[in-house]
Amino acid sequence: MATVLLAGGAGYIGSHTALELLNAGYEVVVADNYANSSPEAIRRVEKLTGKPVKLYEADIRDNAALRRIFAENRIDAVIHFAGLKAVGESVAKPLMYYRNNIDTTLSLLEEMAAAGVKNIIFSSSATVYGEANPVPYTETMPRGTCSNPYGWTKSMMEQIFEDAQKADPALSVILLRYFNPIGAHESGMIGEDPQGIPNNLMPYVTQVAVGRRECLTIFGKDYPTPDGTCLRDYIHVVDLAKGHVKAIDYILQHDGLEIFNLGTGTPYSVTDIVETFQRVNGVEVKHVYGERRAGDLPASYANADKALRLLGWKTEKTLDDMCRDSWNWQRQNPNGYRE
Ligand code: NAD
Ligand code: UDP
Repeated sequence: MATVLLAGGAGYIGSHTALELLNAGYEVVVADNYANSSPEAIRRVEKLTGKPVKLYEADIRDNAALRRIFAENRIDAVIHFAGLKAVGESVAKPLMYYRNNIDTTLSLLEEMAAAGVKNIIFSSSATVYGEANPVPYTETMPRGTCSNPYGWTKSMMEQIFEDAQKADPALSVILLRYFNPIGAHESGMIGEDPQGIPNNLMPYVTQVAVGRRECLTIFGKDYPTPDGTCLRDYIHVVDLAKGHVKAIDYILQHDGLEIFNLGTGTPYSVTDIVETFQRVNGVEVKHVYGERRAGDLPASYANADKALRLLGWKTEKTLDDMCRDSWNWQRQNPNGYRE
């Protein structure tokens, strides 16, 4: 069976993908510098699957470290999760974001070329659609204007992949545009463990519910949406991880560059999330309505038809599943991986 290198694979999406790849019979190698993660996540993946993962502590910008990994393992495909992803922090520290995110991509592509590895899947984001495109987003729409440096790093890295693939037609590239991943593995053993104050909605909700934070602020209730709060395409991280397995199956059989939205196609509002979380879990999430957050779009959701058509992938989990599994993880790990 093929071997897949997960760059940044100890993180939230990477650890869930490692588990699904192992369950599908792939061999998994993970490289991460733990900038926003813990090796404990991978230990738990090994426990859950009963299979080993070869784990490297390495910075993906470090060409020499990558060279060693490619020399020591016969890698068939790479999934590039490694990157910094906090939108607010990227506004405050743009150079750190451009340096880290873009250099990881350049170093990976350079060392893949040197090692003759021809398949790469990249963690992109719905944020590249920008504000001008109408929802639902389809992959043929042009990339738009991003509202923060994090988004621009994704947009620029997509361009880098397109240029690299044009220059080397033997290189196969899949750009996966994720919508809003939430939830956790149903065991509650792995999940999202943000450092510091969470930027994203669901970790904030679970930390309020578990008593780590006082109160959730819902950013804006005067948007042109049915209940006045923003609409997003929340996707269960296990569905998302299974999308990566389908993308690996596909890239090992096809050349060229493809872009896929990974979302459910169904928008929910911030209020829907809070109400569903409270109903499914029987816990209160104290919340207030506040000002809009700069850069937020009223609505972002996918047309997910292409992934169904070409990858045979569609989401299976409901919003109730997402809220239940997020809580199950947080309840069992109130301090994340730091016990
Ligand atoms: P995460 O922070 O949990 O995972 C990213 C991993 O990359 C972390 O383990 C981090 O330690 C590692 N990393 C960062 N810089 C590194 C470097 N220079 N060298 C080695 N490792 C490095 O985030 P995630 O939610 O799992 O996201 C994975 C990818 O998906 C990221 O590229 C992110 O931008 C992208 N993405 C995430 C979302 C989301 O909402 N979670 C949405 C769209 C796209
Ligand atoms: N949100 C909120 N309060 C928070 C965090 C997020 O109301 O503390 C809202 C945010 O305005 C957006 C939605 O939740 O409408 C999802 O935000 P998140 O940061 O999780 O993802 P984004 O879509 O911005 O990438």
